[in-house]
Amino acid sequence: MKIVLKNLTKTFPSRSKKLRQDVVAVNDFNFEIPDGELVGLLGPSGCGKSTTLNLICGLERPTGGQIFFGEEDVTGLAPEHRGVGMVFQNYALYPHLTVRQNILFPLQNLKGKDRLTKEEMTRRTEKAAKLVQLEGLMERRPSELSGGQQQRVAIARALVKMPRVLLLDEPLSNLDARLRLQTREEIRKIQRSTGITTVFVTHDQEEAMSISDRIVVMKEGVVQQIGRPQEVYDDPVNLFVAKFLGTPPINVFHGRIKGERVYIGEDAVLLARGVPDQEVYVGIRPEGFLWQEEGPLHCEMGRVEVMGRDISIVSSHKEAAGAQIRSIISAEIRVDPAQETVRFGVKPNKAYLFKKETKERIRI
Ligand code: ADP
Ligand code: MG
Repeated sequence: MKIVLKNLTKTFPSRSKKLRQDVVAVNDFNFEIPDGELVGLLGPSGCGKSTTLNLICGLERPTGGQIFFGEEDVTGLAPEHRGVGMVFQNYALYPHLTVRQNILFPLQNLKGKDRLTKEEMTRRTEKAAKLVQLEGLMERRPSELSGGQQQRVAIARALVKMPRVLLLDEPLSNLDARLRLQTREEIRKIQRSTGITTVFVTHDQEEAMSISDRIVVMKEGVVQQIGRPQEVYDDPVNLFVAKFLGTPPINVFHGRIKGERVYIGEDAVLLARGVPDQEVYVGIRPEGFLWQEEGPLHCEMGRVEVMGRDISIVSSHKEAAGAQIRSIISAEIRVDPAQETVRFGVKPNKAYLFKKETKERIRI
């Protein structure tokens, strides 16, 4: 089932008495989520991710715009008639019910023509439990499960109604690092095997990058960029997106274009053919530095961190926007941490220019 968001907008009245301005939680969101894809909705806290999800499932009514499931306009449809499964950060299971009863619960509430026979309910419950590998734990109560297992019960409970659309709002935030990794792989597997169109909300860029077919990067209610994770990483449209994706993050410098060259301080690091003279931000990915004895970029050596396959050189530069510059180079190169200055070349395809005023990308 494809999902189409058309000029989707949601404003909330201001909560503060002094500030009368409304909060535009979602601002003119346009996107067509292809059938069967897993889309990661990504952005910092407060950027409108949950509101977008609540609009899709019908818990919130939009101020403007429309939502389609396939060709059907569902904008005015009540949540229970949309056929969506929702999973939240806190699993919100019924503590006094067993795993089996928790998964079964949504089916027992079906009324009228949707009512199922007892056999059908059992069959569906067992199928959903099997999908998330809970078959052995059906008679336990939530308190007897780990966080990851509890979240799997919540996912099974969302799947048991065979939704047309699955919506997950930061479903892994309450899990510890290892479980988070494992559960996200499971979610990916379940999504692949069921083929349910899924929207996955997270503020964790690595999480979104690793499991999504496509990511949507949001900032203050406005979509910044949509694309395949690698495309967005390789080709960010503005400084915000460039900084939001990647660990360690991109290194940002105050630079300037003069005579079709990019300068960072006195160092001419790149060519910029056809770009008029101006002040710019220069973003260089950690993997965009070349270890060169005669390299154009002169940095002050900080320390060298060995990471096995790679080494990370932490240095500084007076034109760097951040306190430190992190570059990642192959561990086969021997770097002396005692040297005062470290010199780098810059890989053109790992460096980006941004306008000083708007922070939009300047393409070379
Ligand atoms: P996210 O999930 O990305 O953290 P939200 O969608 O929850 O962000 O919130 C987006 C913005 O809308 C925030 O500024 C938030 O304070 C505001 N907001 C969300 N829900 C309400 C509400 N019910 N009433 C007023 N403002 C709200
Ligand atoms: Mg949220």
